Amino acid sequence: MEFIAFTYVGNFVDKEIITDVLFNVFDDANRFFQQNEIPVRFLYIGKLELEPGYLINLNTPEGRIRVYPLEALVEVLYSRLLQEINEKGDIKMNKIFALTTFPLVSRNPYFDFYEKFLGIHEVITGLRIMILSMKPFEVPIAPDDSAHERRMKLETFKNRLLKGILHEVGHSFGLEHCSNQCVMHPPANIEEWDSRIPGYCDECLLNLRAALEK
Ligand SMILES: [Zn+2]
Ligand SMILES: [Zn+2]
Repeated sequence: MEFIAFTYVGNFVDKEIITDVLFNVFDDANRFFQQNEIPVRFLYIGKLELEPGYLINLNTPEGRIRVYPLEALVEVLYSRLLQEINEKGDIKMNKIFALTTFPLVSRNPYFDFYEKFLGIHEVITGLRIMILSMKPFEVPIAPDDSAHERRMKLETFKNRLLKGILHEVGHSFGLEHCSNQCVMHPPANIEEWDSRIPGYCDECLLNLRAALEK
């Protein structure tokens, strides 16, 4: 069994999103791996605390926002993973996965981050750091939505995110994009993403299992 350290970053989110989306998606992913006989599990290592000193101001079409630059996040995640590996010495773990509640930006202010900067992978001395922004998967909740509508929207949000997580995990074990009904088939838009099954096609599943046997 191989483990992927799992954490999240973001302090300005509503509690409902943390409990209904974030923790559920983590459980759903592990259930998915188990049911599909994929010998990998996420290991929750707690929330990642970042010092406010890392925050930068960024001008966007939606006004000025405060965000953490990717470069800083990657560094913090790398040392966090090293620390986990040292503490848990006896398990196989060389990857960390962080969800962020904010859009991902680099120091380049012209980066088209809403569209193109969904997830990033960085490998530093054999350790893989993955960061995925929850932002593009979000389903906006209106103040006058009924309890039922809210639940449905949070469910859609979670399902989109689960597929995003499975997609990035696929890449982390060498899977490339495919054109089947599969999470490794990148969508042209969010509607297309909603129509994808939350899983890998037979071919990707076999490749993933093979990569994990190595
Ligand atoms: Zn991809
Ligand atoms: Zn596939």
